[in-house]
Amino acid sequence: MSAGHAVEAFRAAHGRDPEGVFSAPGRVNLIGEHTDHNEGHVLPFAVDRRTWVAVGRRDDDLATVRSDDPGTEPVELAVGKLATASGWSAYPLGTLWALGVGRGWDLVVHGEVPLGAGLSSSAALESAVALAVDELAGLGLERVALAAAGRRAENEVVGAPVGIMDQAASLLCREGSALLLDCRSMAAEDVALGFEAADLSVLVIDSRVRHDLADGGYADRRAGCVAAAEALGVPALRDATLPAVENLPEGAPKKRARHVVTEESRVHEVVGLVRAGRPEEVGAVLSASHASLRDDYEVSVPEVDAIVGAAVGAGALGARIMGGGFGGSVIALVPADRVDAVTAACGALRPEPTVREVAPAAGARRDI
Ligand code: ADP
Ligand code: MG
Repeated sequence: MSAGHAVEAFRAAHGRDPEGVFSAPGRVNLIGEHTDHNEGHVLPFAVDRRTWVAVGRRDDDLATVRSDDPGTEPVELAVGKLATASGWSAYPLGTLWALGVGRGWDLVVHGEVPLGAGLSSSAALESAVALAVDELAGLGLERVALAAAGRRAENEVVGAPVGIMDQAASLLCREGSALLLDCRSMAAEDVALGFEAADLSVLVIDSRVRHDLADGGYADRRAGCVAAAEALGVPALRDATLPAVENLPEGAPKKRARHVVTEESRVHEVVGLVRAGRPEEVGAVLSASHASLRDDYEVSVPEVDAIVGAAVGAGALGARIMGGGFGGSVIALVPADRVDAVTAACGALRPEPTVREVAPAAGARRDI
């Protein structure tokens, strides 16, 4: 019982019981890659790996954080200086800052979401902290507002230009379901996946490769989308049609736009398939997404293509690169009886990827 680890760690650090223990999950994005910054839809689900935070208020104006992750040191900061938090503490203290807390807090973190493995341990940490502060300080914020606070922490205190998908998934998802999120209106809908009943597993395969291109490449792809939207005379690529995109002159903006427009329709295709009780057909849509991300969006790399090929060759129904690109992780839909074969096929690759099975789990909650 991992909430218990957080309680024990809190007692050991502070010599009293926490007022509450809250947890939030990591996430994967089933489909809808690079649609978020074009104001389109994404379809993430929360995974069965969580981050717990045991929390207690203090009588002074200090915020303290510690984590049992071996790469971290405890940090203390006056609440007036939360915006200056750095290193790992920027995630939890930045979230306190974004929520505008006016008094001291003790936060003790126990995480079971692997860091930097494509499962968004950062959003899990921010979301657990945001829910804890909301409940204990009686802020009464909507979960979407808590997600926005986590994103703001990551954008402004950590300094990472992320969207809101990860925090929204961590805070809003329900067990067994994905979240169809409209990144323009923030409207969110549950989509029951039915994977378990169909004996389907989801594997997240971490390539453990990240090319130096990643940051510049991401900015360049975003710029290509903006240029294409401008050429098409639409506010964002979410509003573009495929025939209009096909009429653009050949070049990078056309390819970027073709990925975004076809990916947006793949999101709705996947929703339609699972709602029609045909979840196994989602595999082919994932593979089509990979081809589009490789050929039109041009964010794949040979190591990741090799993983997708090995997974499909060993029986996956489909697989695609997930996340910003230039390395990172692959998500694969696999019949339960092919999981061992896919894992073995990936194990033969070099560098050897890390294979993890994930299941759609509940969003952030109070545990104690
Ligand atoms: P991810 O894809 O896992 O979100 P990021 O680089 O965005 O990768 O975030 C990982 C960072 O978040 C870690 O380097 C660390 O600073 C912080 N972090 C996440 N979970 C924890 C945790 N349980 N304890 C301490 N820091 C954490
Ligand atoms: Mg992250």
